[in-house]
Order: sequence, then structure tokens, then C-alpha cells
Amino acid sequence: MKTVAVTKIGSLRDPDPSTRGRVDVVDFPRQPLGPEDVRIRVAYAAICGSDPHLAEGFFGTDVPIGLGHEVSGVIEELGEHAHRNGLGVGDRVAGNFLRFCGTCRPCQDGRQQFCEHIQDYNRPGMAETVTWHESQVYRLPDAVSLRAGCLLEPVSVAVRIADKTRMRVGDRVAVCGGGPIGQLALQVMRRFGATSLTMIEPIAARREMALRHGAEFVIDPVGEDQGVRAAEITDGRGYDVVVDASGSPRAVGGLLDIAAKGATVVYGAMYPEDFAMPLNLSDYLYLKELTLTGVFVSPYAFPRALQLLPLLALDELTAAVFDLDDAVAAFEAHVSGAHPKVLIRCNDLDETGRTS
Ligand SMILES: [Zn+2]
Ligand SMILES: [Zn+2]
Repeated sequence: MKTVAVTKIGSLRDPDPSTRGRVDVVDFPRQPLGPEDVRIRVAYAAICGSDPHLAEGFFGTDVPIGLGHEVSGVIEELGEHAHRNGLGVGDRVAGNFLRFCGTCRPCQDGRQQFCEHIQDYNRPGMAETVTWHESQVYRLPDAVSLRAGCLLEPVSVAVRIADKTRMRVGDRVAVCGGGPIGQLALQVMRRFGATSLTMIEPIAARREMALRHGAEFVIDPVGEDQGVRAAEITDGRGYDVVVDASGSPRAVGGLLDIAAKGATVVYGAMYPEDFAMPLNLSDYLYLKELTLTGVFVSPYAFPRALQLLPLLALDELTAAVFDLDDAVAAFEAHVSGAHPKVLIRCNDLDETGRTS
């Protein structure tokens, strides 16, 4: 079965081809179908900002490493007991690439993100089919296309970011980083009742995209004085909620200075393993009482992400599509930054699930 995988560890951005990481289409065996499992013919799998980190060996260096956790498709087969959520053959679905077992102590303690069996069903979905436990699979609303449906997982991350902000209606909110997660978080925070909603992003096209989807203000952190602009927008008080979706070591430190007293700052991205941020405890935790937190994965967020999916503007995030056989070119396009997001069409399925 064709599957997109990392075949050589290294940065996909490395200018030297001898040390650069590689992604290829390889042949993987089809995943087994257990009695509570669902086999999905994959329609679309989106490339995630975290995929290049996998190529760098962040989660392990044994290649090949199968990719793809932002997936939509059509159910082609169910295990004999996979009927608790009413799923059936032909259903258009998306899902959570992680299965939270529900049985281990963290799961029982309301902290599924720390499930001790979280990897058991983490299977590559940038493939012809993916087989998940039924608890990972959600039927898409009729109004959501398969093409938009593959964004359920990143939308769930935006929902989890919103959860971690503990935002109140009317709070002033800034989002740093106009990639897919930042754009989705911006849209979710807008619906949540954010005010002074600001996108901080150095690339003009991404700032413009944010303005089309609900940002009231944008800040160019390279061309403008971020602190001065934030003070102008917030009457000198700072933002009650600051979300980092950039993952950029250059960007993250300054966010503490634009946070209001008592604010929550969510570091909602992946960061370089060896990056440590200086933190003045007196200024930021004693005098300003900031709450700093992060997001690992997105438990308890998928049912609400499914509700939001038809309400979000997703066309620009699903415009660039490559075929599975062109996955190498798709990753080159992703790394080039030419598109807000890149999708891989893993099977040519129409919206009824038939091969077109
Ligand atoms: Zn992702
Ligand atoms: Zn568990």
C-alpha cells in the first residue's frame, strides 16, 4: 500500500542534498482491522507544520517513518464490533490520529493527552487507507467536503488552544504566527468573543489572510515595533490572551511583554528541542501574574471541532492539492511556503465516496 514516509533523517530545508532529509512514497503493509476498528479509504491528507520536525527525527530516527495525521476519507470496512457510534460503510469521515484508551490512569483522571497507550493506533494516514479504532472516527457534516474535512485535526488543535486560554468573552486577544494553526485559532477566538483581535505575522500575505477572516489588527513584527503597536491597540494594557502558533524562537520571548497583567500566554506550537527561553520570574510571574501554558495534543476537542468545521473559512487552506504519487513535490511546495497549506489527494474519491 502506497504510504508517504520519511526515508532519510534531516532537515527538509537543508540546502546541502547530501545531508537533507527525504520524504518518499514507499510500500507499507495494510494495517490490521481489529474487531473495533474502522478502515478508511483516504481522500485527503494534509501536510502539517510538524511533519518536517518528524523528518528531523524529533519523535525518533528509525526510518521509514510513515506520515499523515490530518486525514479525511470514506469508510470501506468495519470490524465486527465497531458500531458504537453508528458508523457505516460509505460514511464520509475524519478523525483523531491518536486513540485515547480510556482505561489507563491519565485517561481516567481526565487527562487523555497523557494516555499511556497514545501511540497504539498512531498510524500513517498519508496512504491509500488508514485503519483506526472506532473511537477516533467522526462522521463529517453534509455541508463539509472531504477536502475541508481533512482539517478536522488542526481545527481540534485550535479548539484545544482556545480551551487552554481560559478566555472570557470580550478579552483582548493576540495570535502570533499566521500559519494554518494560527489562522484557525484566530477564527475560533473570533467566534469565542475576542476583542482587539490581532495577528502578529511577518509575511504580508498571511496578515492579509488573517484580515479577511476576522482579525481587527495586524502587526508586522519585523517592520514595526511590536510593543508600541500592541500598546496602541490595547490602550497600553496589553492582551488578556496571547497565543503563539509560530513555534519561532525569535517570536516567543516578546509575547510576554505584550501580555496584560493577569494574562494567559499559550505556547501552542512545537519548539526546537534545544531552545530555552529566558524568563524573568519577578517581572512576569510575580508582578504580572502571567499564566504560561502549552498544548501537546487535543483531547476532548474533536466533537466541538466537528461542530465548528462548517462555520470556518477553509477554502484558502485547502486550495493547493497534489496527488499521492507527487508527494515529493507536495513537500517541496510545503517547505517553500508558497501555499498556506498543502493537501495530498490519496485516492480520487467524489463526495459520495466513489472513485471518480
Ligand atoms: Zn498536525
Ligand atoms: Zn489511556
